[in-house]
Amino acid sequence: RFITFEGGEGSGKSTQIRKLAERLDAAKLRVIVTREPGGSPGAEIIRHLVLSGMGKLLGPDAETLLFAAARDDHVRTVILPALNQGIWVLCDRFFDSTRAYQGQLGQVLPGLVNAMQRVTIGDLKPDLTFILDVPVEVGLQRASARRGNAAADRFEAEDVKFHQDLREAYRKIAAEDPQRCVLIDATPDPDAVTAKIWAELRERLRA
Ligand code: C5P
Repeated sequence: RFITFEGGEGSGKSTQIRKLAERLDAAKLRVIVTREPGGSPGAEIIRHLVLSGMGKLLGPDAETLLFAAARDDHVRTVILPALNQGIWVLCDRFFDSTRAYQGQLGQVLPGLVNAMQRVTIGDLKPDLTFILDVPVEVGLQRASARRGNAAADRFEAEDVKFHQDLREAYRKIAAEDPQRCVLIDATPDPDAVTAKIWAELRERLRA
């Protein structure tokens, strides 16, 4: 089974992935946790390039092609081999991140986003995608608390607008593909969110 997690800053993706992996492990299922951009040695190099800001020097289309190269390597060397062995794969971000960040926010044309998807993942689709949804103020507050930022209660207006648009982009993706995507209210405490994710997973995958 292939499960992906999506969401903006401070939505708690990594905590929830870890908790779900623990539950699957306790149920004696084989599971790996991976992430994008990155997840394989080659793709982690590209992650470093992109997150260090170098992607911005290249312009949005070239940056999208870098993400594509990373995904191609990650799918080929990590995700598919694991799925072929019957191992559950939990992935922190996948192609919905490309649709949201590059497609809807970065205004990369749909033709490029769709071509990238076709080339890098072909018919591979997550069985289930959890989109962790939190109000922007809550997410930014959590993220800056994590960074130990003293001015945790003050954010740049630009930042708030970006994250509002991101939240909308994800909500749109969830609404467009309700079979695969589950929008999860990630405001409650982490254990309550995990319980909700677990219940959805069991119901939808009959696991
Ligand atoms: O989830 P994580 O914090 O590891 O993601 C790192 C960052 O990479 C995100 O905050 C986002 O700004 C960026 N990203 C992106 N486009 C993607 C995936 C991630 O801009 N397709």
